[in-house]
Amino acid sequence: MARIVLKGARYPGDIAFEDGLITEIGVIASKPDDLIVDVGGDIVTPGLINTHHHLYQWMTRGLATGCDLFQWLTTLYPIWGRMSVEDVHAAALVGLSELALTGCTTASDHHYIVPNNDDSVFDAIVDAAKAVGIRLFLSRGSMDLGESAGGLPPDNLVEDRDAILSSTQRVIEEHHDGNMVHVVVAPCSPFSVSTELMIESAELARKYGLRMHTHLCETIDEQEHCLERFGKRPVMQLVDWGWAGDDVWLAHGIHLTTDEISLLGEAGTGIAHCPSSNARIAAGLCPVVDFSENHVPVGLGVDGAASNEVGGLFGEMRQALYTARIREERADALMPKDVLDMATVGGAKCLGRENLGAINIGNPADLVVWPGNDLGGIADPITGLILGSDRRAKHVYVAGEQRVKDGELLGVNVRTAHQKLAERSKRLWN
Ligand SMILES: [Zn+2]
Repeated sequence: MARIVLKGARYPGDIAFEDGLITEIGVIASKPDDLIVDVGGDIVTPGLINTHHHLYQWMTRGLATGCDLFQWLTTLYPIWGRMSVEDVHAAALVGLSELALTGCTTASDHHYIVPNNDDSVFDAIVDAAKAVGIRLFLSRGSMDLGESAGGLPPDNLVEDRDAILSSTQRVIEEHHDGNMVHVVVAPCSPFSVSTELMIESAELARKYGLRMHTHLCETIDEQEHCLERFGKRPVMQLVDWGWAGDDVWLAHGIHLTTDEISLLGEAGTGIAHCPSSNARIAAGLCPVVDFSENHVPVGLGVDGAASNEVGGLFGEMRQALYTARIREERADALMPKDVLDMATVGGAKCLGRENLGAINIGNPADLVVWPGNDLGGIADPITGLILGSDRRAKHVYVAGEQRVKDGELLGVNVRTAHQKLAERSKRLWN
């Protein structure tokens, strides 16, 4: 395959890649066989990395809009319980397409609803990711603690623990390739899982050398649940479960003490920061600046489209910058480059894929070309990009393969996918 050269970008300059890897950066002299892509005046960044999402929630956007987390969940659980595997596929196809179109090249999906105990739902999500062509971190989510046992979800929505563990093993063996598809072991949240499931999930993940993910420290309600059920705050419970480690990243991480933050930093446990979702359900303001000072890896997450109807990662960068400045009451609490790093290298660190998220020679060519035609008059192109209007990607490459061209996704008809999803969604609410 010919060498591809992105030529004339305002930032960071020309970029060449071949056989899926970045080979040259700067001012690049053309060779006769090169395929030249003119990106004059545009901005090229590493592909964005989404560290937390629930793709199936594209089925239930715009519901329970005035609810806090527990109200929101108890309103939506019964609706989610009616989803079919085909529904989840339709939602994943739209969700992943929207991510690619907004510059995401690696997407994490935390999926914990298994309709009728049919775990082919995970195969459906992998199929959707392959159609879109972006990298997938498939978090095999799970819940085994129903209402009658002191959990929040209705009993008919939880799975049997042994079934969860054997299904997780099947999903790992069938889909984990450590490159385009990573399987992650991911019990849902403290109020929906048993202690046994947390411990046995960690054992399973570590047997295969895989990563672990869960929701933690999202709301005060969750904290109270932990204090009542375990007599401990969530982070100390995490330690008890054997989950404080550098193979773990957590969604949210809002309500923590200084000691708990330094504990996570020492353990190397990462945080998926989801600022829009946190605002939508009034969960609180995440202490991202304290995390950085304590060497806690921080990535950005969209969270599910039922608590962040945008469903794209681009706007999360600006949202992260603004919410950190409000929390710290300091205008330099986070700078545009900091939030771009969070959405790229920070995410790669959370996911344990440290050759992603940076434009370095030898790294996979996961790249986004952002249209820069309206940013010519802004001195710093990254500030213009992050603080300027929301934008969709002009071109997206994953491992050197073009997935978005001139703003259109190549592998999926997005318009049709949206129409099909709308029909399925309406059927589900009715
Ligand atoms: Zn979530």
